[in-house]
Amino acid sequence: MNRRTRPPVLTLLAASLMSASALAASPGNDPAALVKIRDTALQSDYAWERMADMTDLIGPRLSGSPGAAAAVTQVAEAMRKLGARVSLQPIKVPHWVRGKETGELVEYRGRPAGVTQNVVLTALGGSGATPDSGLVAPVLVVANFDELKALGSQVKGRIVLFDVPFDQHMAARGLAGQAYGHGSSYRRDGPRLAAEMGAAAALVRSVGGAAYRLPHTGASGLQENARIPAAAVTAEDSMLMARLAQRGPLSMRLVLTPKNLPDADSYNVIADLPGSDRPDEIVIVSGHLDSWDLATGAHDDAAGVASAMAVLDTLKKLDYRPRRTIRMIAWMNEENGTRGARGYLAAEQANTDKHFGAIESDNGAGRPFGLRSSVAPQSVKLFQPLQAALQPIGAGVFQRQDALQTGDLSGLERAGVPSFAPLIDTSAYFDYHHTAADTLDKVDPDNLRRHVALMTATAWFLANMEQPIGRANVPER
Ligand SMILES: [Zn+2]
Repeated sequence: MNRRTRPPVLTLLAASLMSASALAASPGNDPAALVKIRDTALQSDYAWERMADMTDLIGPRLSGSPGAAAAVTQVAEAMRKLGARVSLQPIKVPHWVRGKETGELVEYRGRPAGVTQNVVLTALGGSGATPDSGLVAPVLVVANFDELKALGSQVKGRIVLFDVPFDQHMAARGLAGQAYGHGSSYRRDGPRLAAEMGAAAALVRSVGGAAYRLPHTGASGLQENARIPAAAVTAEDSMLMARLAQRGPLSMRLVLTPKNLPDADSYNVIADLPGSDRPDEIVIVSGHLDSWDLATGAHDDAAGVASAMAVLDTLKKLDYRPRRTIRMIAWMNEENGTRGARGYLAAEQANTDKHFGAIESDNGAGRPFGLRSSVAPQSVKLFQPLQAALQPIGAGVFQRQDALQTGDLSGLERAGVPSFAPLIDTSAYFDYHHTAADTLDKVDPDNLRRHVALMTATAWFLANMEQPIGRANVPER
């Protein structure tokens, strides 16, 4: 159902919430109120409980899957229970389903008779399929795009492996995003480029840290009509294949049988806490509801959704009513299409100037150090009271950039809506990211509470600011 056609019963629920809260005077951005918000969040298990429900009861939530549909229902029900004004925004999502996936090195120089080597791999989202019995082809190992291009017509009929290491040293020193950006460009563009050059299949070295022979999946960037089989191999197997290829010709049997099905129906979940005197102005607080299919998407991104849900819970506990509307969004399909964000932007195209600011948490639940934001440079100083309230929990940093370009907010940001994201310790995030190990036990409940404190205080602060903060001004690329 669309927000503009919500049934009366929800409006009634919202009305009862509003009348109850209207009795309490809003403390606005009084420093004591910010401290109260922070301390209330630090004592609550609400976000942890929502995460446990999402990961333990549902599990994986890839777009189009029964898990994704169950997550829409679960989050909407939890938000209704808080008395929020809830609506489901319909969207069409890609529907890709993993199949069998095995790899085996069947020919290489020095191979003892009867010996083959197993390759641990996992299909990339949007991958095409091999025949059920698999395909056998020579492997070409390249270290970058230039090496691939230089091979020219030799690529035809071959399996291409992009052996590009993830820079764990950068990740450990606070540059995980940059390390991921470099590696993931091969996952996104490598298979497509290999397909254009006639490759039989494309493999990428897993984009992530740790060394437990875990494959990391992710979106491949392959498009309809040009799909070849594409998979991520573990760092260990990628290095093995590179070593064997140096000894001489290397061949592999690859079995990948995923299915690309017609687009499926799905939804963004939207839950509003209506503003008291500027209800038409909106502050978004959000995370993404879909996850990859190998695990339960605890860090990516149940943590973000649960923290965003907990913003409404924390303010309800305090009976605090914001001046602007605080809108919780659980985005659908961030991982392999961002159709949820596109659908929202299309629906709000004429209303983006009423969006005051937007927060998304999508870098896991590591310890938060503060905020990143694309507010106008002259507005940074306005956030000092917020920083002061968060400093005692080590989350007082405010980093400004021209553009955050986060998955779901980048369209709104280009339309002028300043983006906000928690600044997080991500040194271990890419150990689990998109693997079978992204599970609830990897999340520290104390850090999750700090996230809720940070996101609630930030959403509240934005919703009550007296001064305008200006519009985001994203430079042309
Ligand atoms: Zn994510």
